[in-house]
Amino acid sequence: MPRARRRQPDPARFPPCARCGQCYPGGADNWPEGRVCKYCYLQARLRTGACAECGALTSLPGLNASGQPACTRCSGIPARFRCGCGREVTAGERGRCWWCVLAELVTDVLAGPGGKVPTHLRPLAEGLGSMRRPQSGVVWLRRSVTARTILQDLAHGRLPCSHAALDAAGANRAVEYLRCLLVRYGVLPSRDRRLADFQRWAAAKLDGIGDAGHRQLLERFLRWYLLRHLRSGSTTATPLGHGPYQRAKQRLTVAAAFLAWLASRGHQLGECTQHDLDSWLAAGPSTRQHALTFLSWARRQRILRGIELPVIHTEAGAPPPAPEARLAAIRRLLLDDTLALEDRIAGCLVVLYGQQTSRIAALRISEVSCTDAATRLKLGADWLDVPEPVATLLRHYLRNRGNMTTAANPASPWLFPGQLAGEHRSYRRLIVILNQLGVPARASRLAAWHQLVRQAPPALLADALGVSPDTATRHALFAGADWATYASRRSSPATPEYEALPVERDHHACGPCPGRLTVALCSPPPAGEDHRVAVVVGDVDDPGSRVDRGIEGQPARGGGGQHVVGPPADHQQEAASDAQW
Ligand SMILES: [Zn+2]
Ligand SMILES: [Zn+2]
Ligand SMILES: [Zn+2]
Repeated sequence: MPRARRRQPDPARFPPCARCGQCYPGGADNWPEGRVCKYCYLQARLRTGACAECGALTSLPGLNASGQPACTRCSGIPARFRCGCGREVTAGERGRCWWCVLAELVTDVLAGPGGKVPTHLRPLAEGLGSMRRPQSGVVWLRRSVTARTILQDLAHGRLPCSHAALDAAGANRAVEYLRCLLVRYGVLPSRDRRLADFQRWAAAKLDGIGDAGHRQLLERFLRWYLLRHLRSGSTTATPLGHGPYQRAKQRLTVAAAFLAWLASRGHQLGECTQHDLDSWLAAGPSTRQHALTFLSWARRQRILRGIELPVIHTEAGAPPPAPEARLAAIRRLLLDDTLALEDRIAGCLVVLYGQQTSRIAALRISEVSCTDAATRLKLGADWLDVPEPVATLLRHYLRNRGNMTTAANPASPWLFPGQLAGEHRSYRRLIVILNQLGVPARASRLAAWHQLVRQAPPALLADALGVSPDTATRHALFAGADWATYASRRSSPATPEYEALPVERDHHACGPCPGRLTVALCSPPPAGEDHRVAVVVGDVDDPGSRVDRGIEGQPARGGGGQHVVGPPADHQQEAASDAQW
């Protein structure tokens, strides 16, 4: 997320910044690219990582010819000081670079009885010491008492190196974060985090059940049904998902509640009557149906007899959001620089292109392709073009993926790396973001799909997609096929109508990105017309370069509504990648 810019740009007083193009007070006048505003200066000075030119792990205030972060030597930007380790850096602590500060801290924390880091902890020490954003590591080790204590105990042999020992140390986020790091650097073997979580939770749950008979029964259900079921769905390659984990918890909780409820009516499970079951389902909240898994298991075990189990259809879910709410959400996702870029991209994929949150969260970096000709994403078996303006957001994002700069994810395969080592981002966070924007994820997917189907039948969409009509129709029928919709966003040449659009000429040059992006959103709609969103990509100064890519409906026409023009995402997104340690 770019740093908040509290001041309004003031072209009367300040010349435009060479990086962001906005007229803010100055930060540096003599950088190779010219005058840089104070916001861009601060961001550049604090940026660390591997130089795109020489590969050195150091301060990266500069940009190389293709706009990638570069070190002071390669970019010609003056360094603040030279650290004892030889690095020329623009920020550090008391004359030392962040790597040296971090290395000292790590050695301090991981030192064993002889003052040396024990052999088995050395890969961890090296991993921590070579993170691309060492400031985060310093803050983490200074702030997290839990992490420091556990690491010291491990180094001194007071705590055995095992998952069980960490389990005993507590079940909070600090411990989990550390566990993932220990796994990442081979200090601990890997294990399925959610499965372990579930086992721990279930053991505590069963301990809290007073009736010995109920406890025994639920233990059997847990061991022979729930855990078997969860283990069959969890492998090293695909760890247990949040959905199955949550469902298993609910099933055990509701099964326990059912047994207690039945006992209050004077019955044990074997004596449950159809009337009991019907009253249970009729009298309580819909979550009571989660008892059916337990009951059908009990029936297979012949504990329960002569009972008819109802078939429950899943609910239809929330209704699709109103067009106004959807448009407002699209506008925010495209234009609001205060939202994290990864949230904006993922949100667009849901709201505009009807993709599933869980699938978006688990996209791999190998499933994205960016060339001069096209930005493409692989969903399922097909590679599909990502239209503007989401493609521009995606390209910006790819230059600086989130959560990559700490020791947790030095080479994450995920497009959206999570905060825990080796994991992708949580799709629940995305659902929360969309909810905050007023568009529930599932309902928004449906709304996107309805919109797309209204605009063109699958067979027509097939052409633009480069797939057979059969494939497009299949896509239309199944959830994964929502991409068929791409056809509706075929780019069309700039139209004269577009020239009439009262676009506010907010010139927004983007440092590393040669093009400029104008996003025009029309709201409220002209009387008698549908809402529409129009996007124009190209140089704002050069009408000939503009390509209108209406992303919803036809290209917007002038003469109605209030038009909002926004800049593209700031190219300096590294603040978004600050892990929240
Ligand atoms: Zn600037
Ligand atoms: Zn360099
Ligand atoms: Zn140093």
